[in-house]
Amino acid sequence: MANQLANDFQFIDVGRQDPQKKDARVRAREFNEIYAEFKPVEAASQAHRCLGCGNPYCEWKCPVHNYIPNWLKLVSEGNILEAAELSHQTNSLPEVCGRVCPQDRLCEGDCTLNDGFGAVTIGSVEKYITDTAFAMGWRPDMSKVSWTDKRVAIIGAGPAGLGAADILVRNGVRPVIYDRHPEIGGLLTFGIPEFKLEKGVMTRRREIFEEMGMEFRLNVEVGRDIGFDALLEEYDAVFLGMGTYNAMSGGFPGEDLPGVHKALDFLIANVNHCLGFEKDPADYVSMEGKKVVVLGGGDTAMDCNRTSIRQGADTVTCAYRRDEANMPGSRREVTNAREEGVDFLFNRQPVAVVGEGKVEGVKVVRTRMGEPDANGRQRPEVVPGSEEILPADAVIVAFGFQASPAPWFTDFDIGVDERGRIATSAERLAFQTTNPKVFAGGDMVRGSDLVVTAIDEGRRAAEGILDFLEV
Ligand code: FAD
Ligand code: SF4
Repeated sequence: MANQLANDFQFIDVGRQDPQKKDARVRAREFNEIYAEFKPVEAASQAHRCLGCGNPYCEWKCPVHNYIPNWLKLVSEGNILEAAELSHQTNSLPEVCGRVCPQDRLCEGDCTLNDGFGAVTIGSVEKYITDTAFAMGWRPDMSKVSWTDKRVAIIGAGPAGLGAADILVRNGVRPVIYDRHPEIGGLLTFGIPEFKLEKGVMTRRREIFEEMGMEFRLNVEVGRDIGFDALLEEYDAVFLGMGTYNAMSGGFPGEDLPGVHKALDFLIANVNHCLGFEKDPADYVSMEGKKVVVLGGGDTAMDCNRTSIRQGADTVTCAYRRDEANMPGSRREVTNAREEGVDFLFNRQPVAVVGEGKVEGVKVVRTRMGEPDANGRQRPEVVPGSEEILPADAVIVAFGFQASPAPWFTDFDIGVDERGRIATSAERLAFQTTNPKVFAGGDMVRGSDLVVTAIDEGRRAAEGILDFLEV
């Protein structure tokens, strides 16, 4: 390896090599993660492909601004524990981001080596660093923390809440995290399926966070099991990281027919079924032997496609109203879905779910791509006279989520914007709401987005809380 690592032009001799992926036929029968872990020599050699750019675009594009070239260098030298220390300086859940970030749109998308050589496998190395360091017994060093008497309540144990708790606890402020679910993780546990993120990753994290001094109060819904007023009374500040849970509907006829399912309900029921958290067996929907049509083109739609395949669906067709280039989901996940047997129909817009008493098909019209909208994405335009029916026994609607502000926000002067997202302002402390004692971040502030952006906002909100507490 010494000779290999002495080579500054490693990227010419060694191509991009992702960790080994299980055969699609095996994947389609199980819910386990599909990528193997790098072996140490593979991780070192892939990390050594990094050019160490003076102004690393990958680092700018990464929402938490990870010190990517620095930890790649440490991995190339076999210095995993130092790499873990460094990667935890900027990211509260690096092993999760390494698994689920859409790297092709973030860090790896901006790697200089994309210019014909293939980006460095940044995500897989990030996952490797933390998994390996934990296996070696490494734990975040809390020995220099001087504890204050401050305590902060956090509502939501998703990436935003955990990101906030990580910064607070490292600064000697005790976070107490409330969640209505029986396990931490938010959508990481009750949303994203095991084939992208095995649940053991979050149970291990929970143990480590508890060792660091975080306290979790699970199976507690704030506003039902405990009042928000009690939290405001008991704690020095409160952070809200409650996510967005109003599923968007298509607004077309037939959406309430038996056999039409909301994406997140379907995925959560599957997770609960697999993990033994099921409260009512009737919640679980099996796609075994069914012709399934999934409507949508984001990460949630991909997860529904691939869960249906694993449940034994006869066919799975994903219909999306734009073309493939304009899909919001990660390219990697589209490729994985295709390999596992999902058929994609692009430029198909649903106009009705049809059937007598139950789903029998989805009526779609063809579209062509028109002018870009305000976000720069091309609008789909309907092609007249292009209706067709896609046969289906089950339809999953995965059109994304809108804000789900709690009814009690107004009682505590927590303002929301015109779309129901929590309003935080640049004029106040970072991520402070209109109630000065309350901070917020993640999907409930920015609208449904990504794990890494939620972590980032949670961490930055915690900095705001530290300023507020004058710690
Ligand atoms: P959440 O993860 O939603 O966590 C909010 C938590 O708050 C939940 O645990 C909830 O139970 C709790 N809560 C809410 N109200 C209360 C209350 N009153 N009392 C107590 N607890 C409460 N992003 C990616 O980067 N990559 C992916 O591959 C990806 N795949 C996805 C797949 C699916 C199916 C979905 C739905 C999303 C996916 N995302 C993905 C998006 C990502 O999961 C979210 O952006 C991220 O989890 C948001 O984090 P958050 O902490 O803001 O909210
Ligand atoms: Fe890339 Fe996400 Fe890791 Fe940042 S956190 S380096 S975007 S995988």
